[in-house]
Amino acid sequence: MSAGKVYFVGAGPGAPDLLTIRAAEVLRQANVVFHDALVHPDTIALAAGAERIAVGKRCGRHSTAQRFINKRLVDAARKARVVVRLKGGDPMLFGRAQEEIAALDAAGIEYEVVPGVTAALAASAEIGVSLTQRGRARSVVFLTPRVGEGERPNDWARAAASADTVVIYMGAGEAEMITHALLAQGMEADTPVVVVENATLPDSRRLKLALRDLPGVAALGMTGPALIMMGEAYREGVIEHAKAIPAARRA
Ligand code: SAH
Repeated sequence: MSAGKVYFVGAGPGAPDLLTIRAAEVLRQANVVFHDALVHPDTIALAAGAERIAVGKRCGRHSTAQRFINKRLVDAARKARVVVRLKGGDPMLFGRAQEEIAALDAAGIEYEVVPGVTAALAASAEIGVSLTQRGRARSVVFLTPRVGEGERPNDWARAAASADTVVIYMGAGEAEMITHALLAQGMEADTPVVVVENATLPDSRRLKLALRDLPGVAALGMTGPALIMMGEAYREGVIEHAKAIPAARRA
């Protein structure tokens, strides 16, 4: 039997109905699904006829574990027709898809990517503030301070200084380090910041504060995935109209 095909499917940011029709169709046809820990159970349940396997920790996945996932994808594609690698948000953003694609390429296995709604877009929708605004913000950077093997640790802060709107993935647990690095990079202490936790989910929380107060988010004990968004786009007006944003809390 010839090898099957692997679909990298974006599950979206959390709410199960933020899934593309194509993603739902691929899930329905799946024989095997390897999914991330963050994917909503209702989304995984769409793959009713599939063997469903949880892989990966929430973050900071060890490279050995990554190699193991690569191998399991290849092995599965040799046995099954439709293999789905279901990832949170969009598979091509901070999802280590490239390593898995490289492993499939090396094994001569066909793949396809089905995009998803990334967390930054979901969070923007939720707070009602555009990432780009005429006269205020015409560039956006998506970055993570988390470093992989062989990467220089401080490059991310330079990237933050180069764009009007900054969206930081996988950073909420390192708010203090992020604040110091950005201030050292010359970012203003009163730069408006919005932190959005669990975007699109019922227990979503949002907080607006100034960059100098960002280390205070540690005290909130956020356990869900969270984004740190900052820039002049979040300065005034618009933010106050979004519902459920608590008043700025000082550290
Ligand atoms: N591929 C994913 C990102 C994976 S990295 C995407 O495109 O969205 C995981 C990080 O994404 C988390 O640490 C957090 O910063 C962010 N994230 C994912 N889901 C989120 C959500 N519902 N609300 C806020 N941030 C989220």
